Order: sequence, then structure tokens, then C-alpha cells
Amino acid sequence: MLEFKREVYKEKILDAASGFTEKEVWVELRWDPITGESSRILEEPLSKETLLPEELFKEGVKAFCPFCPENLEKVTPKFLPSLFPEGRPKRGSAVAIPNLRPFDRFSALIVLGEKHFVKLEELDFETLENGFLLAQEVLKRAKEVHSDLKYLYLNWNFLPASGGSIVHPHLHAFGGVYPSCHFKRIEEACLNYWETYERCLFEELLEEEKRRGERFLGELNGVSFLLAFAPKGPWDVCFLFPHKEDMRFLSHEDFRGFLKGLKRLFSYFKDKGVYSFNLVLYGSSPLPKGSFWVYGRLIVRRFLNSWGTSDMNAFQALHAEGLTAVRPEEVCEEMKAYFEREDV
Ligand SMILES: [Zn+2]
Ligand SMILES: [Zn+2]
Repeated sequence: MLEFKREVYKEKILDAASGFTEKEVWVELRWDPITGESSRILEEPLSKETLLPEELFKEGVKAFCPFCPENLEKVTPKFLPSLFPEGRPKRGSAVAIPNLRPFDRFSALIVLGEKHFVKLEELDFETLENGFLLAQEVLKRAKEVHSDLKYLYLNWNFLPASGGSIVHPHLHAFGGVYPSCHFKRIEEACLNYWETYERCLFEELLEEEKRRGERFLGELNGVSFLLAFAPKGPWDVCFLFPHKEDMRFLSHEDFRGFLKGLKRLFSYFKDKGVYSFNLVLYGSSPLPKGSFWVYGRLIVRRFLNSWGTSDMNAFQALHAEGLTAVRPEEVCEEMKAYFEREDV
């Protein structure tokens, strides 16, 4: 049984803003029903960015870009012919190149289109589709060549507030022998659950979230979207691909459902005045058949003020503790309305 554990701590202070009268303040602690990882929800009101993205990321927009069409062929590396005879595999306007500084056993980068600076809402469906399908092809091939790759996954850092160093939109496609810290927790939970119930833990999570309804956003081509109970950051949205255990075998329809959902999230974020995000898609694991589903997650990233204060502090960086001022249950209804829109 999944446990949705939360505790609220309330305290009184004498508030300077109201003549030092008593004011109640609070923090909520939550524990992730799958991994047990803890998160804190703060009271702080969330402010919009005051600058437009082209102003906020101005220096990054002007910087030299290896991914722009006039530079890509000249300055980016190619794969060895034994891996990809064409050097840089392409699909539409998406191009795959090896990472100059690898992050894992297999480390590729997918440039998403020729346009250098693209705002969230301008990421078009076709470019995204080409990019994700190319990432899938590249990982398929990587796995054929390196049979020891057990973990296939995608990372996406969009615009500088997310830690992305190059503004030109690009995905990272990785293959590893070992799981990341968070993924290891997911795996352990899935395996324990499998050994007792012989089904995937995500199936119970999805059933439970649909039943509760307070965080479930919708389903597109069978791909489910929901807000995380214990968020790792603001607007922590999880995507589940029911009964799909390996991203190499996701169909075009699966990707289309996933990308339709992303587009809807992007239009919501545009209206919220936030520009940057991190996204992960955990695409495969060596767990027993039936115990794991392809799963992903997105959080919004931002600078906390005009002088570039990071939205990650010691809590996230060294306690591995999620922190947000966005309560999933409070934004769910509003976000759900975007999932019903057909125009995005
Ligand atoms: Zn560029
Ligand atoms: Zn990058």
C-alpha cells in the first residue's frame, strides 16, 4: 500500500509587516509514496519573472553557439563510423552528436532544430517529435553496440536557469551501467513491490492518483500526467507510460501523447511567466519484466531575483530534499484545464 505521508508544522511569529502582531507561519513536510524521499512545501508566494526571457538570458543568447547551423558541422564532434556511419545522425531538423565531455558510459546530445533561441511556447511539435524520436534511435543503436548499457534515459535542461549552459535547445541521451541516486530508489521500490504483489508499483500509484483526483492531470494517447505528491521543485509533473518498460519500444503514438502533454504544460508555464525547466525520462532498467514502467518528470527552474540567485540551495543540493512554494493540489485544477485544450 502506498502511503501519502505529510506533516504541517505551524509556528507563531511577531510580524514586522503588521506592527509586530502575532502571525502564524508554516512549513509542510511530505514523503514520496514511491521512494520515501522527503520534500518541503513553503508558504512563500511565487513571483513572476520580471524580465522577458530574451532579456533575462540576453548574454546567453548572444554567446557563441556550436549548435547553430553555421557552426555545427565545423566545431561539433562526430560519432565513430562503427557506431554511426553518418557521423551525426539526423531526423528532420534534429541532429545527434556525441558529448564532448561525457556524463555517462554513452553520452549523446540532440540539437533540437536550427533556431538558436526559442521560448518555451515556441518549441514546435514537429521539432520536438524529431528530437525525441532521434534520441530513441540513437539509444537503440548504442544499446546494440554496448550490450552492458542497462539504463537508458534522457535529460533536458531548458534555458540557463535550469543549468543548461547553451541556450540553443538540445536534449541529452544517456546510456549507463549504473542507475542515478534517484533512479536507484525508484528501482528498489519497484523491486520490493514486485516481489510482494507481482505488478508494477506505478500501476498502483496511477490507480490511486486517479481515484483521489487531486493531482491527476490527464491522459494523452495512453500517457498519464500527474503532479508529484512530494515535489522536487515547483510544478513537479510526472509522466507515466503504462506497461511500457523500455523507451526503445515506445511507439510514435506514445511519443505523440507525451509531447502533446508537454506542449500543454509549456502553454501553462508561459501563462505563469516561467521559462526554464529540467526534464528527465527514465527509459529502461534491468528490473524483472512487468515491474517497471517508463517514467519521467519535469520541474520548473527560475532565478529567484534579478541578480541571478539560484532556486537551488543547500536543501536540494546537499540534503537531496525537494523544495517548492507550489502546492500540487492548488494548481491541479488550473493545469487540468490546459490538458483539455485541443489548440496546443
Ligand atoms: Zn545556436
Ligand atoms: Zn546541455
